Amino acid sequence: MQVMNVVEKLITDGKLTKEEYVELLKYADDREITEFLAGEAVKIRKQYYGDKVFTRGLIEFTNYCKNNCYYCGIRRDNRNARRYRLTKEDILECCESGYELGFRTFVLQGGEDPYYTDERMVEIIRAIKERYPDCALTLSVGEKSYESYRLFREAGADRYLLRHETASEEHYALLHPAEMSLRNRKQCLYYLKELGYQTGAGFMVGSPGQTPESIAEDLIFLKELELQMVGIGPFIPHHETPFAQEKAGTLEMTLFLLSVIRIILPKVLLPATTALGTIHPRGREMGICAGANVVMPNLSPVRVRKQYELYDNKICTGDEAAECRMCLEKRISSVGYRLVCERGDAKN
Ligand code: SAH
Repeated sequence: MQVMNVVEKLITDGKLTKEEYVELLKYADDREITEFLAGEAVKIRKQYYGDKVFTRGLIEFTNYCKNNCYYCGIRRDNRNARRYRLTKEDILECCESGYELGFRTFVLQGGEDPYYTDERMVEIIRAIKERYPDCALTLSVGEKSYESYRLFREAGADRYLLRHETASEEHYALLHPAEMSLRNRKQCLYYLKELGYQTGAGFMVGSPGQTPESIAEDLIFLKELELQMVGIGPFIPHHETPFAQEKAGTLEMTLFLLSVIRIILPKVLLPATTALGTIHPRGREMGICAGANVVMPNLSPVRVRKQYELYDNKICTGDEAAECRMCLEKRISSVGYRLVCERGDAKN
């Protein structure tokens, strides 16, 4: 297989077979191929979104979690995590300061915390949507029943982020204890789509046991699902997890995959993640130049920031929301893009 044939096919068809993706992935650190793909990706995102970079205010409202994912710093068995929960009032305060700073999307993310029953979630969702009807509300609270997703949607939630983590059964079992299943995670994504959420999936780059084949399956899965959002970022080890000694994912592979995802899903909303900014000081800017068009600064109260520690050395845990916003604005304009204050809905 000639790599240039594969690249051309990717661009004309917007998809490849598993074998072709595997071939393409061999070139993730080839400068010429990477730059070519990034150029294509940037062309495509400009066509749909111009020079706009959308911003989402991330509110990490609980770090309690009933799950025990091997990679995650807030897993149930981490006895050294200092746990916290935000009240509805705390959350509304985050939204208020965010709104003043120009945020028009709020993302409520947390561990799977049974304290937030459907009733409590609905109350929080309603309160936010009542006060900020012009804002989009995204949830990222893991696997729930169809009925819970339906209640949240009726209460006003617009979008849902649920990374599938890996589309390979074998790989999924390396990352999660036996009580969790890829089948259920996928089922949740189908429910979310059916309920009319703008839906996002995604995966970590370089997680232990990831192979070119599993990445190829991830890309095929993302394309099949016709998602509005995709979240990818490098895996970064956390010292209190079974993966403490594992290697982090690389900048090169993450940037490469951002470009490929932009090419296969031209209208996707694709963040340059905090994890990418953690492995390289200019990671997020580089992500934008590879095809990403979203950033998700933190709006959580500074007093709890450090405790939402999914991985080691997470950046931006000490800054007030206003500082984060200004810092990002500078970073984005340094690479020729514009941070905008809009809901930033997907165009598909
Ligand atoms: N409980 C929610 C939110 C999880 S946190 C849910 O299940 O969807 C959001 C994402 O952070 C996860 O989906 C995972 O892909 C990522 N993440 C977790 N641990 C990480 C680590 N050590 N390095 C990089 N990303 C990580």
